[in-house]
Amino acid sequence: VGLELGVRADEIDVVARTVTLSDHRVLPYDALVLATGSRARTLPGFEGDRVHVLRSLADAERIAPRLVAGTHLAILGAGFVGCEVAAVAAERGLSVTVLEPAPTVLGRVLAPEIGQAMQAIHAEHGVDLRTGVMVTSMRETADGLELVTDSGEVVACDELLVGVGSIPNAELAEAAGIEVDGGIVTDAFGRTSAPDVYAIGDVASRFHPGHGRHLRVEHHDTAMRHGQHLARTLTGEPAAFTEEPYFWSHQYDHQVQCVGGHYVGDGEAVVRGSVEDRSFSAFVLEDGRIRALVALDRPRDLLQTRKLLAVPHEVTAEQLADETFDLKSLMPQRERPPREQRARRERATA
Ligand SMILES: Cc1cc2nc3c(=O)[nH]c(=O)nc-3n(C[C@H](O)[C@H](O)[C@H](O)COP(=O)(O)OP(=O)(O)OC[C@H]3O[C@@H](n4cnc5c(N)ncnc54)[C@H](O)[C@@H]3O)c2cc1C
Repeated sequence: VGLELGVRADEIDVVARTVTLSDHRVLPYDALVLATGSRARTLPGFEGDRVHVLRSLADAERIAPRLVAGTHLAILGAGFVGCEVAAVAAERGLSVTVLEPAPTVLGRVLAPEIGQAMQAIHAEHGVDLRTGVMVTSMRETADGLELVTDSGEVVACDELLVGVGSIPNAELAEAAGIEVDGGIVTDAFGRTSAPDVYAIGDVASRFHPGHGRHLRVEHHDTAMRHGQHLARTLTGEPAAFTEEPYFWSHQYDHQVQCVGGHYVGDGEAVVRGSVEDRSFSAFVLEDGRIRALVALDRPRDLLQTRKLLAVPHEVTAEQLADETFDLKSLMPQRERPPREQRARRERATA
């Protein structure tokens, strides 16, 4: 593997099958994989030394020395980046205000129960997390910033993190005439509209047969698996990518995990565990099948559900809600691990 650091791919010619680099070299290819990721979305008018985004190591190194106890940090957006930075900053003794236009935190991706629980956890750590608030402009003052909301309220802060999502780095593909629609469009194998050009990871909007639509997943596990999967395809074992999106987030000493992605369908929400005790799983159940799960501090439910999503199974809402019901028993007989089969046989013999 040849690694070229400090150069960008500037242009793709899908007819000549070449890539032009920023140092003007032209590389021919037989197959081309676009794994250009995404970048933090910025907001016009929200710029300056005290305004930050978090995407790269350089971003992190710029922000870290500013996270000093006593500083007032404002965060635009209560998505994963906003919430994780809020948690770290609150633990470092900063005063933190999060401003989110949506009615709940992490509303785009999580079940409302989990969003509400996370909101309460942030409040307990002293984070002033305000939902339903749209910040429309920013002005610099002698010693900080002032944010103005759509209701005319002014929020003063020392530093500002803009955590309002990401933009796929798809311009290179688009300029080459490759189909882009909220990401580089691919089929289930990772093939783009141009011959022998593939896209993986955050930049790819890949067709997922299980969801029946294109998904652009911006999570580590999917990026990694796309890469492994495409390597198999390119070396002669093509197979459609059917794995369910999986991601996690650590905030304070809590772990949120999700499998099944942003499932959209006519699913029924079923909660297992205790919302009050902050240990619960919210399932999406459709036609007797689990389609997705978001779990707060329930790694075992997550692990089992991840296995179930890959196999045929049938379950009712009552079973899912019943803590004594063993999710493992839903696995088809042949899919169960031999160790468990052995243990069952031994129990039956005894
Ligand atoms: C702060 C933060 C926290 C995160 N936490 C989690 C988490 O807890 N769990 C989780 O699942 N995911 C998390 N993610 C998401 C995860 O990091 C991404 O899904 C993952 O990095 C995507 O991998 P990728 O290879 O597709 O893209 P990237 O990691 O973005 O890599 C793309 C690479 O392409 C390079 N590139 C771009 N344009 C060009 C060009 N023209 N020529 C050459 N090279 C180019 C870029 O420099 C970069 O090195 C987090 C992301 C951020 C920003």
